[in-house]
Amino acid sequence: MSRFPFRALITSRVPRFLAIVPLALTAFVATPSSGGPPLSRFDALPQPSEQLEQPVWLPHCAMKVVEWRSTSALRAESAPSEQAYALLDDTCRDAYGQFASFLRSKKLPHLRDRPTSLPAVSLLPGNVLLDGKALRALNDLPSRFEAVAPGCCYWGLYVDSLNHLFLRNDPLIKDPDGTLAPNPRFVRTLTHEISHVLSARLGVWDAVGYDRQRDEDLAEDFVSYMGMHFPAESSAEDLDFHRGRVPYAPPGTDTPALAPAAVAKVPVAAGQANTPNANTSPQR
Ligand SMILES: [Zn+2]
Repeated sequence: MSRFPFRALITSRVPRFLAIVPLALTAFVATPSSGGPPLSRFDALPQPSEQLEQPVWLPHCAMKVVEWRSTSALRAESAPSEQAYALLDDTCRDAYGQFASFLRSKKLPHLRDRPTSLPAVSLLPGNVLLDGKALRALNDLPSRFEAVAPGCCYWGLYVDSLNHLFLRNDPLIKDPDGTLAPNPRFVRTLTHEISHVLSARLGVWDAVGYDRQRDEDLAEDFVSYMGMHFPAESSAEDLDFHRGRVPYAPPGTDTPALAPAAVAKVPVAAGQANTPNANTSPQR
């Protein structure tokens, strides 16, 4: 019953997402640790200088984007834009619309019909073969994420105790004609993370007791439920998709590009986050 979550992006581009939401961000910012390790989880949060001048509210997500850093090698695909914001919001619309029926299909109870306060969002470089390990990027463990994600490497990271969702920065990808299109793997990452967010914020784990592996399995099952039947990719595979070395191949299609042997693999340690608060989208 699940349907493929992509749809033509809304073309009438009254700037939906550039509406400014005044917000005092200070509540979300912790003073960075004054020096020596260990890091605290608050080091993961964006510093004042890293925040968008104005956060961008995504109505279907009911979340605001407060930080977005692009990747210079993939500028068009990784910079904030109307099309990119629309893809995030459309992904939320589709995922949120199916999550209750998904929970029913899994026979999982939840305590609330509406989620409690939803996280703020950061979009950061994630590809560790480009700038994903750069200072303050998604896989910068030593100076940013060590306290919440001691492993490496991730495309997404939801930290419940910070009420913050960290995501890769590439909602878009160039199709064979060079036109920017939805990036299926970004949608996969966001859908996976939405399962973590909604299951926590709807009280699923309050009802049945938290279990990390069950949470991860649920997120992957939700990805499948939403019609995406391809695995998370490595950074090397991500580069191949972005650079058009192999077709970026819409999900659900059985193409050689998605066959494991079709792309060179660079081993990336798929560490397990080992704090109770980190819910991740591991890279392969
Ligand atoms: Zn996960």
